[in-house]
Amino acid sequence: MSEPAVPSPPSPSGQLRPATVAVIAGRPAHVPDEPLNVPITMAATYVAGGDLEYGRYANPTWTAFEDALGALEGGRCLAFASGLAAVSTVLDLVAQGGKVVAPAHSYTGTLLQLADLEARGRIVTQLVDITDTAAVAAACEDAALVWFESPTNPALELADIPAITAAAHAAGAYVVVDNTFATPLLQRPLADGVDVVVHSATKYISGHSDVLMGAVVTSDDDLHAVLKGRRELLGAIPGSFETWLALRGLRTLHVRVERAQANAAELVSRLRTHGAVSEVRYPGFGAIVSVVLAGGAIAADLLTHQTRLWVHATSLGGVESTLERRRRWKAEPTTIPEGLVRLSVGIEDVDDLWADLGQALDRLVDPV
Ligand SMILES: *Cc1c(COP(=O)(O)O)cnc(C)c1O
Repeated sequence: MSEPAVPSPPSPSGQLRPATVAVIAGRPAHVPDEPLNVPITMAATYVAGGDLEYGRYANPTWTAFEDALGALEGGRCLAFASGLAAVSTVLDLVAQGGKVVAPAHSYTGTLLQLADLEARGRIVTQLVDITDTAAVAAACEDAALVWFESPTNPALELADIPAITAAAHAAGAYVVVDNTFATPLLQRPLADGVDVVVHSATKYISGHSDVLMGAVVTSDDDLHAVLKGRRELLGAIPGSFETWLALRGLRTLHVRVERAQANAAELVSRLRTHGAVSEVRYPGFGAIVSVVLAGGAIAADLLTHQTRLWVHATSLGGVESTLERRRRWKAEPTTIPEGLVRLSVGIEDVDDLWADLGQALDRLVDPV
């Protein structure tokens, strides 16, 4: 008697919706007695004669993660050791002396890399207000690469991605979007013609504040080959255990983002009416909220020390709610208010989150 045919998993690139893709993409074929998940492959080298050869070139655990994130973003993904490893590999595409346009309010590590490259004469950088589309388009004219975040960190400004992409392409520049804040569930820049998407997978993709990883996604096969070559040469590869953890986190991305976003929207409406808060910045989606406190830096520092549930910590995108006064970092641009506190809203019960944040804010208005 012949074996019944083993159904193969559906292709994630078909008509499936993002929540399904997050769960099924990058899985092994459905074979009896085989695990549902890709195992952690611990290998520095492989028996010669096949496709993998050496651990810096390829790893089956990376491939599973890359298939899943690539399917969500709509391109081909490469995993990196950290978000900044991905950033530096992409910035390395710029030829000697080329110009990079980037938002003045970018992630500080990206700004520091740009400043470092410029100080060493590698590139020229022009920082722009990403909300001023006409000024950004003008800056693109002699650019080699246009880099942006939207929403920006921590100002939460939004860019007109299709318009800026068109202007950059007209000038022959690459366009890169750091999609860490939005995730592929809320924004898919490749569909707007962007060349490369970068992620700090440390944040929402892995989602549990226990792993550092990065990723690059592109729908251009030539760029993919170049970036893969740079990863092999520069060696910014992730560990297979980290990659497995990030993939495990990615399986619940849609559920976490949905819950965190709902919590954020509710907290925004409560924060807007609180007397200790002079400004609430929220782009209308996602789960990062910035509040500017009426009492400036002192009030902001007090707030970060007077919450119990909310953890005072840098980073973002985990299941747990965290908060931080961004100007405590020397590298943060001085155009970010001293009293700005960035909230990374997690997936806890929103009333518990508000009770804790609310009591800490109340004490700023009426200290006891
Ligand atoms: C954290 C972060 C990075 C850097 O990623 P690491 O994983 O910490 O190296 C880059 N971009 C944004 C928007 C980030 O939030």
